[in-house]
Amino acid sequence: MNLELSEEQGAVRQLAEDFVAREITPHVVEWDRAESVDKSIVKKLGALGFLGLTIPEEYGGSGGDHLAYCLVTEELGRGDSSVRGIVSVSLGLVAKTIASWGSEEQRQQWLPKLTAGEAIGCFGLTEPGTGSDAGNLTTRAVRESGGDYVINGSKMFITNGTWADVVLLFARTNDTPGHRGISAFLVPADTPGLTRRTVHGKLGLRGQATAELVLEDVRVPASTLMGPEGKGFSIAMSALAKGRMSVAAGCVGIAQAALDAAVRYAGEREQFGKSIASYQLVQELISDISVDVDAARMLTWRVADLIDRGQDFATAASTAKLFASEAAVRAANNALQVFGGYGYIDEYPVGKLVRDARVMTLYEGTSQIQKLIIGRALTGVSAF
Ligand code: FAD
Repeated sequence: MNLELSEEQGAVRQLAEDFVAREITPHVVEWDRAESVDKSIVKKLGALGFLGLTIPEEYGGSGGDHLAYCLVTEELGRGDSSVRGIVSVSLGLVAKTIASWGSEEQRQQWLPKLTAGEAIGCFGLTEPGTGSDAGNLTTRAVRESGGDYVINGSKMFITNGTWADVVLLFARTNDTPGHRGISAFLVPADTPGLTRRTVHGKLGLRGQATAELVLEDVRVPASTLMGPEGKGFSIAMSALAKGRMSVAAGCVGIAQAALDAAVRYAGEREQFGKSIASYQLVQELISDISVDVDAARMLTWRVADLIDRGQDFATAASTAKLFASEAAVRAANNALQVFGGYGYIDEYPVGKLVRDARVMTLYEGTSQIQKLIIGRALTGVSAF
């Protein structure tokens, strides 16, 4: 086993670190307060190849392996989870899924634009009534005699929703109950009948465009169906299995940011005539964060290694996502404790880390759902 990064991986990480310092860190507080990151960041991400990692170059991708993808995701997560999420969804959940499941025509249509940051993708699975229970979603796509599908339903909490040019949409195409009746579609976001509304008032990820989508008689040609009819749930689950690695890497970034901030502040702040870094209980907070960072990072890198070696990775991805998301919440909270009252105001970075970390145990499968996935793999019994 060799945990040393290759020259190429080290260079990609450095590129991401420089990008964060130059394009993200100076704007983080302003974007958070304004409830929107500057959309021009998307093209900049595309220009550096960060929206094309692991995608073949023939489709505009920048190649690279999954560890390189994790390194970039971690750095972006360290800078601003709202930006990290744009990449995790547009590349991780949408472009990669098109690369795996799309027809040649669909790949040609969407991948060059998505990888360049000229188009943004969103992933439409969750509905108001079905979150964890996505296999029972109710959005319907009915095939008409002319061949078109007409889609009706609604989607909730869709990241990039108001910004997206294409929705990877999951809808029921037949009456078979549960996940077997679900199909995947690539719906252009400007299709008549598709309305998008911003979800305001989020605890964290305030700079990110999260939306509710309403579909009223949205008519799309049969060529928008991606993969075989009825295979949509498998497509969604395969996207999420890889997506969980990306979320885990983003969580490592949050925890690393918490560690960096806590160490820096502990060295600067004095109480009782001494640096607070000299107190054992403060050192305990810092060392707890550090252990969480290391453990979360190793679990995440293991997933990348399994994917790159063509091994089964789904359970390892759930393990990494479960641990890293809970670790990010703990780490951010411990860092806030190190900052005392100053941690509670947004001139300092740790309050935002707490708010942004909190969603990580919820989306792409809650912590409870990850435990059911891991438990099912170990026992062979589904507790769903
Ligand atoms: P519920 O499923 O109602 O769960 C509520 C509680 O019940 C949780 O604690 C859960 O763990 C528990 N629970 C549910 N079922 C079980 C069970 N069988 N056993 C034990 N406990 C259970 N979705 C998308 O499709 N695309 C996106 O881009 C996207 N982005 C998001 C961005 C944000 C900011 C947020 C908040 C959500 C996003 N989501 C997205 C939705 C997200 O994936 C869901 O919120 C998540 O899957 C949980 O679903 P729910 O909110 O309906 O909670």
